[in-house]
Amino acid sequence: MLKNIHKSIDQLYPEMVEIRRYLHQHPELSFQETETAKYIADFYEKLQIPYESNVGGNGVIATLKGGKPGKTVALRADFDALPIQDEKDVPYKSKVPGVMHACGHDGHTATLLTLAKVMQEYQDELEGTIVFLHQHAEEYAPGGAKPIIESGALDNVDAVFGTHLWSTVPVGVLQTSTSAFMAGADRFEITIQGQGGHGAYPHETKDAIVLGSELVTQLQQIVSRRLDPLETAVVTTGIFQAGSAFNVIADQAKLTGTVRYFNTGIQKIIIDEMEKIIKGICISNDADYTFDYIKGYPPLINHPEDAKMVLEASKDIVEIHTAEIVPPVMGGEDFAYYTMEKPGAYFFTGANKEGNPYPHHHPKFDIDEKALPIAAKTLIGAYFGYQNASR
Ligand code: MN
Repeated sequence: MLKNIHKSIDQLYPEMVEIRRYLHQHPELSFQETETAKYIADFYEKLQIPYESNVGGNGVIATLKGGKPGKTVALRADFDALPIQDEKDVPYKSKVPGVMHACGHDGHTATLLTLAKVMQEYQDELEGTIVFLHQHAEEYAPGGAKPIIESGALDNVDAVFGTHLWSTVPVGVLQTSTSAFMAGADRFEITIQGQGGHGAYPHETKDAIVLGSELVTQLQQIVSRRLDPLETAVVTTGIFQAGSAFNVIADQAKLTGTVRYFNTGIQKIIIDEMEKIIKGICISNDADYTFDYIKGYPPLINHPEDAKMVLEASKDIVEIHTAEIVPPVMGGEDFAYYTMEKPGAYFFTGANKEGNPYPHHHPKFDIDEKALPIAAKTLIGAYFGYQNASR
């Protein structure tokens, strides 16, 4: 059956490309992707595959129940775009000013829709149930994954697999991890309130720039001196705003930054240490502060057995010449919520387009569409791997 499925996927390649290019020309921003959701729903409507719309927002979930008993496995594709002006010179360039599929979610959607169409042909002989999980709003926290899970739509799902077309990895290469794969990504905002004054009379002020500088330096010591050196994390102060004139002592300093980490224990330590440091500096200098820590997506941790199923599945796909376990990347992804709730794994499908060196979220970002059928074959391969493993 697998060989025939691969053949069917290859036969539908032109349609896959057509869908991807249509979506590429009609991108919609996170939480506003109603037309895209409608396009997806219409696709299932035409196929007469049962589906549900408005799941946790704009999510669309279709269910293909196989003729034979088995597990229920969700395959996830996100479908939102980014507030970026498309600067590519291609016929399928975005038709919406300032909005672009600059992360490949159009490709994810085309992959999953086509796969659904193919798998319908095999419905009678299929073991288990495939849940085609079309998720809105991946690009903008709090994201679409969380409300979809909270809606209960995945309560009966046994496992979730997903892929990202990855433009910096060559076509034919598959990458995954058997543990942490993508980082937790948070944001912080600190305001130090000192007391301004004349630059010549520092003793009559509480210099917010000096306190802020001390803070930046001490924040660096969280990773270097307060965390276990075998743990990985980043504390970056990206913005430091203070002062207005060369001879005036600033009354206020604002620091904004990001924290990246791979386990929630470390995240907690970082938050606690940040608070202690800020408090310590302000108490000893008679200054006040506000500290806002905004949690983004949690780290994406793959389940090892399921990641191995992905690697195993890749062996049956002739286009994949390299399937490898790679170190985690510091980017975030709300697929994280699925593997927190359910078994499953996420992987990168190499999609580098020759001559296009531009990374994700770049105005000239593009993918090699040959990666789409590879993504479809790996997703369904993981599905079968999970069915076989749970027998
Ligand atoms: Mn993305």
